[in-house]
Amino acid sequence: QKAEWAKLVNEKTISIDGHQVELAANIGTPNDLEGVINNGGEGIGLYRTEFLYMGRNELPTEEEQFESYKAVLEGMNGKPVVVRTLDIGGDKELPYLELPKEMNPFLGFRAIRLCLTEQDLFRTQLRALLRASTYGNLKIMFPMIATLDEFREAKTILEEEKQKLVTEGIAVAENIELGIMVEIPSTAVMADQFAKEVDFFSIGTNDLIQYTMAADRMNERVSYLYQPYSPAILRLVKMVIDAAHHEGKWVGMCGEMAGDETAIPLLLGLGLDEFSMSATSILKARSQIAHLSKKEMEDLADKALRMSTTKEVIEAVKAGTSN
Ligand code: PEP
Ligand code: MG
Repeated sequence: QKAEWAKLVNEKTISIDGHQVELAANIGTPNDLEGVINNGGEGIGLYRTEFLYMGRNELPTEEEQFESYKAVLEGMNGKPVVVRTLDIGGDKELPYLELPKEMNPFLGFRAIRLCLTEQDLFRTQLRALLRASTYGNLKIMFPMIATLDEFREAKTILEEEKQKLVTEGIAVAENIELGIMVEIPSTAVMADQFAKEVDFFSIGTNDLIQYTMAADRMNERVSYLYQPYSPAILRLVKMVIDAAHHEGKWVGMCGEMAGDETAIPLLLGLGLDEFSMSATSILKARSQIAHLSKKEMEDLADKALRMSTTKEVIEAVKAGTSN
């Protein structure tokens, strides 16, 4: 089986009936690139920039960040690279920011909320990204967006920094796509409105499931509620994909669900455009999709959306994909 997968390293990802999707990788540092290339990643769907900020005593400088972003963009040789701006807070702390302890860190001052307040930190990262943008195919994504106002504010800050660089005579790429993570239910529900203003969505199911089910993703006692295939989650995913496609935008998924064997048939059927997963899952997923019919998965997804429990969905996927 491994030998079978290895043949797919330089192949596209296409279903039996000719529908193409993109399989991208999630990375944390430029060191992860080798694994992405060796496993046939068609792009980076999520570059978690938190690692640049963690395990140290002070913020990374603009120069340090620029070097990392440039390394990833050059390493991917023109393939798309989605960089997520700082998503600190929740499970990921930065002791040197000396933020007050919170009762509910996952519901607290994190990610874009922190960046819109601590603007120096945010602007430094955006400048580093914009400067690196000429070295490859950069797309920028904001995490934990809950309202359109947050997106608009973050976009304005990005545009201000771009304008400053241009005035300073520093080259910036022309058409950098700007997207958001959909990981808060309010944003999934409002996807039709967001879709008019963003260039793409990436569904962050690790958090979207946690917030939809009100079940802490770190707490084992409630982990039975972490149900990627529940009709509730599938309906949200469908809303997001349909809303984006209605506006001609693309949708990725970068939560664990995107690389999950049981979820993949459903996501293909729902029309997901880009699946971003750990590099080591890519070839297996490519092989799986090569054996699936998009048309049949559409029917399967359609049925799943009308089921009442996760168990029924899992059984339907098993039955619908075993031939
Ligand atoms: C997610 O929430 O699904 C996601 C990809 O982001 P993270 O796991 O880094 O919170
Ligand atoms: Mg998240």
